[in-house]
Formats: sequence, C-alpha cells, structure tokens
Amino acid sequence: MLTKTKIYLSSPHMGGSEQKFVNQAFDTNWIAPLGRNVDGFENDIKGYLGGNNEVAALSSGTAAIHLALQLLDVSKGHEVLCQSFTFSASANPIVYQGATPIFIDSESDTWNMSPELLEIAIKDRIEKYKKPKAIIAVHLYGMPYKAKEINDIAKRYGIPVVEDSAEALGSTYNDQACGTLADVGILSFNGNKIITTSGGGALITKNKELKNKAVFLSTQARDNAPHYEHSSIGFNYRMSNVLAGIGRGQMEVIDDRVAARRKNYNFYKANLSKFNTIEFLDEPKGFFSNRWITCIKTNSFAMREEIRLALQQDDIESRPLWKPMHMQPVFKDYLSYTDGTSENLFNNGLCLPSGSNLTQEDLERVLNIITKTPNL
Ligand SMILES: *Cc1c(COP(=O)(O)O)cnc(C)c1O
Repeated sequence: MLTKTKIYLSSPHMGGSEQKFVNQAFDTNWIAPLGRNVDGFENDIKGYLGGNNEVAALSSGTAAIHLALQLLDVSKGHEVLCQSFTFSASANPIVYQGATPIFIDSESDTWNMSPELLEIAIKDRIEKYKKPKAIIAVHLYGMPYKAKEINDIAKRYGIPVVEDSAEALGSTYNDQACGTLADVGILSFNGNKIITTSGGGALITKNKELKNKAVFLSTQARDNAPHYEHSSIGFNYRMSNVLAGIGRGQMEVIDDRVAARRKNYNFYKANLSKFNTIEFLDEPKGFFSNRWITCIKTNSFAMREEIRLALQQDDIESRPLWKPMHMQPVFKDYLSYTDGTSENLFNNGLCLPSGSNLTQEDLERVLNIITKTPNL
C-alpha cells in the first residue's frame, strides 16, 4: 500500500526563479541587509500594490508592526486599541513599546474589528482621559476588515491606524490593495504566508519621510557621519539581500498563488456548504479576499473537534481559529471590549489545508475525511 503523505495547512510554494535571484546575491557578494534584491523586491511590491506607496523590506512582519508604532510615536503609558481576534504578533509590539494594549472584538460579516465596539472603546477611554494613541486592525485570513468604517471613526477622533495586512497580500477592498488602506500598513513573508522569503516583512506608507525613518531605525539608526554616530535607539530589522531574492521570485507568481488559494476555498465551499453544520465566510460586496486560509465555522465545539481529530488521524493538518488575545493568559489582565463573537469563532471554527500547492487529489482526500465525519 502507498503511504500517504502529510497534508499541511499552508506550506511554502516556490515559483522557480527564487534561486536565480539568490544566486545573483552570491555572485555579486551582496550577502547583507542591502543590495539589488532588497531594492528590487521593494519595487516589485510597490508595483503590485499600485498607487503611490513606499515600501521598506524588513526582517519580519512583527518588526514592521514594531516600527509602525514607533513612526506613530507610541511609547510608554500610551494605550493602543488592537483587534483581539488575531495572531499574537499583532499585539506584542504594543508591549515592546511599553504601551498598553486594549482589545476589540470582531463583527460577524468579516470576523475582523467591530467598528461599533471600536467607537464604544474610544469614547470610553476618552471619557477616562486616556485617548488611544493608535488602532491596529487586521485583515484576518485575508478577509479585509471594514476599512471605511474603521477609517471614518479613526479620523473623527484623530487616531492613526496600523493596518496588519500580514495575511492579506493580494486582497483588495473596493479595488484598493490591502496594506495601503491606512496610515501605515504591514506585510509578512513568513513561511506560512501566501508568499514567503522564509522570514520577512514589509512596512508600507504613502509618506516618503516615514519610509526613510523606518529604514533608518531598521539599520541601527546611524546618523550621517564617517564614524558610528547615534542620536536614537535603532534596531536590526532590515531584510537580508539573500532572502529578498526569494521574495523577487515569489512576486513573479503572486497572482497564481491568490488564484490557487481562492480555488481551494471554492472547492471546499462547493462541496461542504450543503451540510447545515458548516458555514463559510462570504465576501461582502467590494471585499476581495486572497483566501489565505479557508476557514469553516461549525455549529459546536464538539463538531469542530470531531473534524479536526478525524483529519489528524489521516495525517492532515487543520487548526482551530486564532485564540483571541483577550483570552490569552499573557493578555488576560488588559482591558477589552467584547461581545462573544471571536470567542465563539475560536470555539467552533477550523482552518482547513489551504496551501497553493495542494493538488486536486489532496483536496479530495481532505473532503472525503470531512464528509465521513459521523455527526456532520
Ligand atoms: C504572521 C503574522 C504576523 C507577524 O508576521 P511575522 O513575519 O511572522 O513576524 C502579524 N500579524 C498577523 C495577523 C500574522 O498572521
């Protein structure tokens, strides 16, 4: 009997040109956090995002969020409102800055930050003489958040927005690229994301000075002098020229990657939505998701676990949705504005295998296990 191979949630998928660009870095000896691949990768992203955006390639998405908060002058004693339903890397940099996170629950149309709860939180904090210093909103699983509503509220109270687009390269909101919808946007190229440099990230802004400041801070904040002169604290957050070579190869195939992930979603939806125990998250009008991960919402924790364990039995990786930050032990003492939406998603939701390199056979194998689950 043939042994079955493991099916992963989301694994790297090289396009073919990556090694050519990496070799160029070796051939020219630019084995450093600068060089032609870094410039080239930044230009590729810029071109892909469209519009008038500046891009700084960095060592990770987390680094990009950390720098974004510094560009917005978030520091000790400030409060930052952050989407609770997300990966911890959205919130950790708030604490790196000595600031205080306050968590905002999701709404059910996009599973992202609830504009209503956001405004309630802002009003409440202002009443307590603690006007929030920034907002971090997340396009979770590639689904855009309600950018107009969030931006309108942010403008009304004069609070800048950091757009965590780590999972949403290739998603658009009213035809505008995710990552370009707020004051500062960030991307991630971690190994599990829609394209990868093995590890990497980017900061996006329309303000050239902010981009320059991000690059300055990411390369140890060296002042202009022949010796090493420093008048601020810097970081070692710039992207390696070797890894940027991988990124250039990946940017050649980004459209295929988005198409493949969307195809996965459509396959699962076409075959599973007939079961009334399973729900999918449709795109509201004007929202285009890269469908980084296909998520299902089941009708109970028990149902979710039944499917997850059956898949595991067949060496297929699936995973509960992100555990909200307000439920995490490390963040439990922070204030939050919640209504149960993300807690419910966490309890009942499951991420299905969603890589762009899944074959039709792989998808059928996953489907076959799910449809055989007894109580479906
Ligand atoms: C992956 C991810 C990040 C962090 O990106 P890294 O490149 O892994 O540091 C931040 N936010 C979200 C929502 C992510 O999924």
